[in-house]
Amino acid sequence: MSAEFDLVVIGAGSGGVRAARMAAGHGAKVAIIEERFFGGTCVNVGCVPKKLFAYGAGFRGEFELAASYGYSVGDWSFDWPTLRDNKTREIERLNGIYRKLLDGAGVQIFEGHGRVESSGTVSVNGETLLQARNILIATGGKPFVPDFPGREHVRISDDLFYLEQLPKRVAVVGGGYIASEFASILNGLGVAVTQLYRRDLFLRGFDKDVREFVAEGMRHAGVDLRFNTDVTAIEEQGGEKVLRLTDDSELHVDEVFYATGRVPRLDGLFADGVAVQTNERGAIEVNDRFETSVANVYALGDVIDRLQLTPVALAEGMWLAAFLFGEQKPEGPVVYSDVPTAVFCHPNIGTVGLTEEQALARYGTVRVYRSQFRPLRYTLSDIQERTLMKLIVDDSSDKVVGLHMAGEEAAEITQGFAVAIRMGATKADFDATVGIHPSSAEEFVTLR
Ligand code: FAD
Ligand code: NDP
Repeated sequence: MSAEFDLVVIGAGSGGVRAARMAAGHGAKVAIIEERFFGGTCVNVGCVPKKLFAYGAGFRGEFELAASYGYSVGDWSFDWPTLRDNKTREIERLNGIYRKLLDGAGVQIFEGHGRVESSGTVSVNGETLLQARNILIATGGKPFVPDFPGREHVRISDDLFYLEQLPKRVAVVGGGYIASEFASILNGLGVAVTQLYRRDLFLRGFDKDVREFVAEGMRHAGVDLRFNTDVTAIEEQGGEKVLRLTDDSELHVDEVFYATGRVPRLDGLFADGVAVQTNERGAIEVNDRFETSVANVYALGDVIDRLQLTPVALAEGMWLAAFLFGEQKPEGPVVYSDVPTAVFCHPNIGTVGLTEEQALARYGTVRVYRSQFRPLRYTLSDIQERTLMKLIVDDSSDKVVGLHMAGEEAAEITQGFAVAIRMGATKADFDATVGIHPSSAEEFVTLR
């Protein structure tokens, strides 16, 4: 006889694990199916290992800075396998923790490929059949690489985390989160990096001042950043990759990383006849309650492609668990505005709310406050890195509708201010807040 559950979750990533644990906490009988790694993309080949690498990449500058404070750093060298393997050890520890969290919550774990057989049944590896009153699809996404001659020669973000050797010369293609973070990480680790982006300014969707500031900062740090440039073909010649570019030039590198977006992971997920509706980007269509077009089948996280961020998948998972099984139902739907986000390129970006361009389009008249400065920490050294801070204020209501930063600790600083923005803080509230001195964050309350 097959087992019967209140909820069967397919995918033990950020959203799936959170939904499963919370649902079990509300008293539901829950199963979770995972085919690759516990903790999903974020823990294994995303946020966490990426941030560890970004820390690793930052040391080069720290050695230079330390000398200006009187330290003799002496000869130093960098060993890639040490960083890679220490990272992998930590990730394996986290995998264990995720398993324990599920176990501890009473969630039954199945390892293998999950497939929706009908609106009430899910199979594991085509064998075990689970009866489900509700099914949650939280299968995440996978990298997208466009088609072109030589596509087989490229690597994707997953590969960076397990590279045998660190290449000497790399091309990174794309101008979004992953490409910019990877370009900065590899550059910081001593690799010669060329980043190629097809339009005239990368990081589309972020504030234009921030994008220009970061482009300048990355170039200053040593990244060969080329805009209005794309790849038409790649050949392998004598152990190196030769990229043919849209301006007819060639680029010779050891590895090419493509970071040109991610698409929903739906591989082998639905049995014939299970007609879950998807949109033109291949994402599962859901309503405000994460219901798909098939009764009792829900979906959330990257597979619905709203905001591909871990905290968003977590929020959606908690919302759904409370909606299905909580004594107290959520008051309204998950809110996707004013979600803070950071890009861990160098300089870091932190942002919440509207860009200047979006605010102008929405409110007509806005006030813009900007500051650029060299952080105190660098003033004893020759390091010329700067920080940019920017506030966008709706003129009629005085509300701060956008807050943007590029520079050291941008993510840490932006997180706190995101609470104020969400609460509807006005510029007068910012002005009335006393700063913490000396800090970079105080600039946000002293902008005039
Ligand atoms: P996932 O975490 O991808 O989990 C899906 C899980 O489902 C996977 O474990 C997969 O193996 C499993 N699965 C898929 N199909 C099946 C099946 N049929 N049967 C069984 N199991 C299946 N976000 C941030 O907020 N901050 C960051 O700094 C950040 N950095 C990132 C860096 C990189 C390089 C990448 C790629 C992503 C990053 N993200 C970051 C995005 C973040 O990782 C995702 O938004 C988040 O992981 C989405 O969670 P999810 O639960 O939807 O999917
Ligand atoms: P993004 O959507 O951020 O960026 C994709 C980039 O690839 C864009 O610059 C896009 O250009 C370009 N591109 C798309 N298609 C092509 C093509 N056919 N040829 C050439 N270039 C192309 O995706 P990422 O892969 O960088 O990351 C996926 C998601 O993961 C992010 O959107 C983010 O939500 C999440 N993430 C979050 C992180 C964080 O929170 N710090 C870190 C890493 C990932 P164009 O602008 O012209 O469309």
